[in-house]
Amino acid sequence: MRALVARGPGAPLRVEEVRLPAPGPGELRVRIRAAGICHSDLSMVDGTLAPAYPLVLGHEAAGVVAEAGPGTRLPVGTPVVLNWAPACRACWFCRHDEPWLCAANTAPAVARGETVDGTPAHVTLGLGALAEEVVIPEHAAVAVPAGLPPEQAALLGCAVLTGTGAVRNTARVAAGESVAVIGLGGVGLAVLTAARAAGATPILAVDVAEAKRELALAAGATDFLRSDDRLSKEVRTRTDGRGVDHAFECVGRSATIRAAWRITRRGGAVTVVGMGAKDDLVSLAALDIFHSARTLRSSVYGSSDPDREVPELARSLGDGALDLRPLVSGTIGLDEAPAAFDRLARGEGARWVVTFPD
Ligand SMILES: [Zn+2]
Ligand SMILES: [Zn+2]
Repeated sequence: MRALVARGPGAPLRVEEVRLPAPGPGELRVRIRAAGICHSDLSMVDGTLAPAYPLVLGHEAAGVVAEAGPGTRLPVGTPVVLNWAPACRACWFCRHDEPWLCAANTAPAVARGETVDGTPAHVTLGLGALAEEVVIPEHAAVAVPAGLPPEQAALLGCAVLTGTGAVRNTARVAAGESVAVIGLGGVGLAVLTAARAAGATPILAVDVAEAKRELALAAGATDFLRSDDRLSKEVRTRTDGRGVDHAFECVGRSATIRAAWRITRRGGAVTVVGMGAKDDLVSLAALDIFHSARTLRSSVYGSSDPDREVPELARSLGDGALDLRPLVSGTIGLDEAPAAFDRLARGEGARWVVTFPD
């Protein structure tokens, strides 16, 4: 089957033939219908993370069960959304109701299959979903209703679950609270959508790119602000001089984490959703940490349980309560995916989604 493969950090991405094993006990072969290109995929190839190569990219996808290994429940033909952090339900974190921190999920790349020249291949986050097919453990597939638009359903598996969960589960944004979102990629736009659904106001969208203004307003923002040295003042003029109740950092950089900290009111909360680099240190003054009484925390996979929350989001998508069209910049073929990575690196658009014919 054809897949988007990275051969090493900085190497050009190529569509290659990859051989996957047949599904073993407890495993499924899933035919991919649509797969989003997420910033974490970029982190796999730009040196931010150090996974094993050759690596099949992709971890945000919707598909259909094509073959079921022995001992599985989901029948062939079941529509599914892939879950890149499947919970083992047995470790300390799973038993303490924090399945998004499951101790079984630590590797960015998992060995699976081989390239045509016989080199052992790896798949991103146990999935490798920018591909015609995946072979995955059954608990990495969440059944969803039939008939969902695949290019929107795919986003439920990463950007939308992450953004929605950050608002609902991690920050617990309440109606009437003020929100700022820094960084308007797929996750940032999903945070805006969830903040609007929670009744937050105002909802301030912040990005360096003026081109994100229309996207932000379509996704749910009340205001768009440029990320520059006037940001703190602009936010305070819209929040009676205090700063926002909740700031969401969706970039993963020390500079934007500090910016999120500065635009939050005393006693407010900063939620870091972006995944940063291990050598990018955030400095905050000890006096400021005490005096501001702010909370700084991270949101991993939206502090969510995908087995419960993906089907909920899928039902909202199906009945029209959730509209993800503003998040999809366009659908493309697998051969166009390398160019879409370049656009993502330049900060262009929201989510590019690779779709596969039936
Ligand atoms: Zn992702
Ligand atoms: Zn676990």
